[in-house]
Amino acid sequence: MTDCLDGIKAVFLDVDDTLLDFEKCAKEAMHEAADRLGIALPEQTESKFHEINDQLWGKLQQGQLTPEKLHSIRWGMIFAELGIEADGEAFDRMFSGCLFDTAVPVDGAFSLLERLNGRVRMFVTSNASFDEQRNRLGKAGMLQYFEKLFVSDRIGFPKPQKEFFDACFRELPELRPEEVLMIGDSISSDISGAYAYGIRTCWFNKKKKREIPDCAEWVVESWE
Ligand SMILES: [Mg+2]
Repeated sequence: MTDCLDGIKAVFLDVDDTLLDFEKCAKEAMHEAADRLGIALPEQTESKFHEINDQLWGKLQQGQLTPEKLHSIRWGMIFAELGIEADGEAFDRMFSGCLFDTAVPVDGAFSLLERLNGRVRMFVTSNASFDEQRNRLGKAGMLQYFEKLFVSDRIGFPKPQKEFFDACFRELPELRPEEVLMIGDSISSDISGAYAYGIRTCWFNKKKKREIPDCAEWVVESWE
């Protein structure tokens, strides 16, 4: 991990599935929301959620969907596929409210943060709500590592769009892209966009995929 810090002055860290375990956080949030609303969720809800959520976030990253639209249709689509008759939009509000307070770390994430701390400047780069990510990182005890949080809802563009990175570097005029290392689990949102921008890349290949795309200059399978 430390090899890839040669010549690097700052890191851009993704949050979900890089520092915080989104699968575990989403699982907690959906069951809590279902309890509060008195809805029974079948076993396949989690896998259906990730399937549809990933599709919708993919569209959002490409600028084909707004965050508002995503929230208004997401759980309705999941419920339709599961045969559940409930108000998807109301469930999304409850789910998002519960997700706001989830903070399950990825295994080894603190060891990564400790290794980076003091060696490089650290920034969050995340596609999400700023308030939610600040709250979750705070609850996880990770907020103090970061100089600043760059989050898509404040910036107005998601990763991997060029405008997202333009906004980051506008606030960091002393840094050049090649002095920054992007660390994230998503090829489509973290790694390909950063690489195209001239930022160095470290792919957190959490799922140990065999195929390594060229845009992933460094690959790490575990933070431990
Ligand atoms: Mg991620």
